[in-house]
Amino acid sequence: MKKYGVNELRQMFLDFFESKGHLVMNSFSLIPQNDKSLLLINAGMAPLKPYFTGAEIPPRTRVATCQKCIRTGDIENVGKTARHGTFFEMLGNFSFGDYFKHEAIAWSWEFLTKVVGLDENRLYPSIYEEDEEAFEIWNKEVGIPAERIFRFGKEDNFWEHGAGPCGPCSEIYYDRGEKYGCGEPGCTVGCECDRYMEVWNNVFTQFENDGEGHYETLKQKNIDTGMGLERLAVVVQDVDSIFDVDTICALRNKVCEIAGKTYGEDHEADVSIRLITDHIRSATFLISDGVMPTNEGRGYVLRRLIRRAARHGRLLGIQGQFLEALSCQVIEGSKDGYPELEEKKDFILKVLNNEENQFNKTIDQGLKILSDMEAEMKAEGKTVLSGSDAFKLYDTYGFPMDLTKEILEEKGYSIDEAGFQKEMEAQRKRARESREVTNYMGAEATVYDEIDPSITSEFTGYNKLTDTSKVTVLTTEKEIVTSLVEGQAGTIFTEKTPFYATMGGQEGDTGVIYTENGKFKVEDTIKLRGGKYGHVGTMVSGMISAGEEVTLEVCAQGRFDTCKNHSATHLLQKALKTVLGSHVEQKGSLVTPTRLRFDFAHFQAMTAEEIGKVEELVNKEIQAGLEVKTQIMGIEEAKKTGAMALFGEKYGEEVRVVSMGDFSVELCGGTHVANTGAITLFKIVSEAGVAAGVRRIEALTGNNVIEYYKNIENQLHEIAHTLKTTPAEIEDKISHLQKEVKELHSENESLKAKMAQDSLGNVMDQVVEVKGIKVLAAAVDGVDMNGLRDLGDQLKEKLGEGVVVLASGNDGKVNLLAMATQGAMDQGAHAGNLVKAAAQIVGGGGGGRPNMAQAGGKKPENIPQAIEKIPELVANQLK
Ligand code: ATP
Ligand code: MG
Repeated sequence: MKKYGVNELRQMFLDFFESKGHLVMNSFSLIPQNDKSLLLINAGMAPLKPYFTGAEIPPRTRVATCQKCIRTGDIENVGKTARHGTFFEMLGNFSFGDYFKHEAIAWSWEFLTKVVGLDENRLYPSIYEEDEEAFEIWNKEVGIPAERIFRFGKEDNFWEHGAGPCGPCSEIYYDRGEKYGCGEPGCTVGCECDRYMEVWNNVFTQFENDGEGHYETLKQKNIDTGMGLERLAVVVQDVDSIFDVDTICALRNKVCEIAGKTYGEDHEADVSIRLITDHIRSATFLISDGVMPTNEGRGYVLRRLIRRAARHGRLLGIQGQFLEALSCQVIEGSKDGYPELEEKKDFILKVLNNEENQFNKTIDQGLKILSDMEAEMKAEGKTVLSGSDAFKLYDTYGFPMDLTKEILEEKGYSIDEAGFQKEMEAQRKRARESREVTNYMGAEATVYDEIDPSITSEFTGYNKLTDTSKVTVLTTEKEIVTSLVEGQAGTIFTEKTPFYATMGGQEGDTGVIYTENGKFKVEDTIKLRGGKYGHVGTMVSGMISAGEEVTLEVCAQGRFDTCKNHSATHLLQKALKTVLGSHVEQKGSLVTPTRLRFDFAHFQAMTAEEIGKVEELVNKEIQAGLEVKTQIMGIEEAKKTGAMALFGEKYGEEVRVVSMGDFSVELCGGTHVANTGAITLFKIVSEAGVAAGVRRIEALTGNNVIEYYKNIENQLHEIAHTLKTTPAEIEDKISHLQKEVKELHSENESLKAKMAQDSLGNVMDQVVEVKGIKVLAAAVDGVDMNGLRDLGDQLKEKLGEGVVVLASGNDGKVNLLAMATQGAMDQGAHAGNLVKAAAQIVGGGGGGRPNMAQAGGKKPENIPQAIEKIPELVANQLK
């Protein structure tokens, strides 16, 4: 048998099914579209669900694909089994109500045995135990002896996903020979070891499960098959594992080269080598489809894969960054099948480097902390790491929980996951909010699901804002109806419409739909599965019924303002690339009549200078009055024009190309001004970060810029009015006021000091002599402790030798201060004890050194009493 390469096998499969009448379609993005039940595409059938349910009409009833897949559920197996990767390619042939079991079984056998040339005697089919039809076909039509056909139960061979379409499966296994077996007695087809490898799974979707275990036969029976391309290559090339097939082996060797290891020498090292080989493929493909490393959802999957690979690099002894070199190898090996890899190369490497760098900065420290935590657990006889410790590693050192768990598991420890989750509550909340009840399609179930899928709408609004057409369907929020009447909210569908539906970031049009007898206000326009345009709004008057001829009129001002903002977004994107560099990629946008928002990949905040340059450039192209042209062309031709395309977006064969002079060319389905001059003006109002490596610009155009400046002008006039001056003199006025405030402030300070002095009055009159020592005890009003100290110093000076005690009431509190000079102390005076005794009288406490002490109290009304007592207290102290 010829040992075909991976790339040859892919082509052979697609050619074979093309010869059987199938339409060969390109792989879809790894990011599911309109399907909230799936994080990432994990099988060939996943992106084709709408065709299986009949929600959309497939381009042909027979389709074949080679679909890129990610299965995070298999992550624990990667590196350990021969047949699992988190990333793999799935070959599949599909029938949407066309052929069924006979053809599917016959063709899978023909492909494996005749086209690829596998040995019939090593192939074993399995069936669902109750599927006699499949048994008969294998046995009678293909001629496989009964004892070579294995029967499995529901768990293995019945495909089902809650309520909805389901059915039995038939798998094909290949016996790779004893050398790959586990050697256990009873090792045969279905054993978890790697001898009998499952290569292909054929699913016969023939029932509908009502959700309670009742099965009804489907009118439209479907075929859905999946064969791992890498696994097929393993058996064809007769190699150990998917890591030994031609394309992946080149990558694996690169890992070995960087690590300075020889594959096959050490079991532990081999696991790490295989793991890195797999994860870098997943990461590279994920980024090429627009996923960014973050802490939740798809972004978390990517982060976990990159960090896991980085850590295993450490285990192999690799120092520093190494993922970039590996990613280049992935791109090199797969760019023929997936040209987006080469197109996005710079971006992919940048994202990878960024993430690896970030992790590298803390990985060693984090590993050290973790081993300290391990030691502590060991000392305390614990085997479970607390949730808060795990969270600390996650939060501070960027160890995804699963990574910590994995490292600990290698040593027999576990994590208090519940505790960790509690700590994560905040981050989790957002994810919870976005998780909603979904139907089989993974979308929210709505009234629109009930509309006949053959109904579509033709968009006529690129060149006109008014059109007439026939109403095809009307719905309220709950059901399809024949008419809508005054006061009712609902959706109107027509054969043709000039209303643009929310798409590609541009908000849908508003306007009116009317007849002689009824008027409907359109508040939003949405595009539904199968190309249906729904006009959402309310009946303002009268009635509109299905089948009626209506006039559809778009709100011209709203549309025109939206066009200005959309066209400005194109100029903005080009200007950003020019000013910041070619790594700028659109990550999202929102265009409404009042503003535009543009998210793009960039790794730091823009400087004021950069923002100024971008504004200037956009305004220059507006003033140049560039002609805006739209053309429909083939996708390949469009790419040749250098048109900017969106990351992870699925484009059809025919695309619309919007160009503005020679300045900007973009693939875009939106509506635009005819000449950039119509935009009039462009102004950026904010620039901020929205996620790791993603910045957001908000900007205005046309009259909205004028409105913006008008507001600022009004504010300025109001400020001038408040300041009793004119806008032109505001600056002078403010610096004048500031000077005045400063002067007043210092005047206030000196007045306060003077007042404190004055409040003492002729304080020196109050000096008494106690046993030859001068004692001055006085009360002052509203002076704080600092003020008392200043005063005390001054009075001490005046006294020469003696004791000073000051008390001041301040907001219901008392401040007390006592000072004694050296001469007084020599005779036994003690400021600390003095203040202590006095404080008791004013309901407080305190004390201090013999020369100076302070205290507080709560009874200002007792101050006179305390002052009166001082001479006696001093007398008691003196010798
Ligand atoms: P297994 O039990 O071996 O994990 P599976 O039952 O999960 O396989 P299916 O869901 O039937 O596999 O997927 C269809 C085909 O996709 C499989 O027959 C196999 O060839 C391939 N495949 C599935 N998972 C992986 C994986 N993790 N890596 C590579 N190929 C895979
Ligand atoms: Mg599996």
